Amino acid sequence: MKYAHLGLLIPAFLAAASPAPAQQMTGRQGSLLWGTGIPDKFLHIPSGVPSVGGRPNWVVTNPLAKQLEQLDIKPSTIRYVGLANSHIDHIGNVAMFSGATILMQRAEWDFAEGRRFEGMLDEARLRTDRPVMKIEGDYDVFGDGTVQIIATPSVTPGNQSLLVKLPKSGAILLSGDVIHFQYGWDHRIVPGNVWNKEKTVASFRRLADVIAQNNAQLWIEHDKAQSDKRRLSPYFYQ
Ligand SMILES: [Zn+2]
Repeated sequence: MKYAHLGLLIPAFLAAASPAPAQQMTGRQGSLLWGTGIPDKFLHIPSGVPSVGGRPNWVVTNPLAKQLEQLDIKPSTIRYVGLANSHIDHIGNVAMFSGATILMQRAEWDFAEGRRFEGMLDEARLRTDRPVMKIEGDYDVFGDGTVQIIATPSVTPGNQSLLVKLPKSGAILLSGDVIHFQYGWDHRIVPGNVWNKEKTVASFRRLADVIAQNNAQLWIEHDKAQSDKRRLSPYFYQ
């Protein structure tokens, strides 16, 4: 199995910089794309699209379609799209994947449905005509333990993380949005805007257990300092 780390977003303001997560991994049983980033069509808006609550604008500098092309991967061949949650920076290009089944928590689907008519950007609404597998709890994607979804309710009811076991690089745990920055993880800081504080604390414990059991590295997807250290696609981790 191999794994490419796609760098999708360099925000307009560096202070709260967080790269948008999207990773693509290919095993013998097909490909899974973890997160689809913010919409590629924002590429044509150089200053980006305003986010909420004073956060940095959503800016696209390296569109997902181009990165997949560099990897020689046709979007229609992606078998699964795993969504950490239903926020715009994780669902932006879902429509691109005409052959995929979407993997998300049932609780997240219900949460997204419930917010469908709130005043939000059109692109921030999860809409798909693709089959959706509504998961309740953890899920072993390929049935061989190499790619496992770990339920980590926190910022939203159905946030999820992803454990990937690579033959050479070892186990990597992709955080999802249960934690955004290394400092927050080191000090176990629960942000004020999470969906549920107790569930977030429990998900911190769960992450720590998964890390210990699998001797995994924790990759915090929105942490810019961490992301800057990663080798981005078209390089593959193996
Ligand atoms: Zn996010």
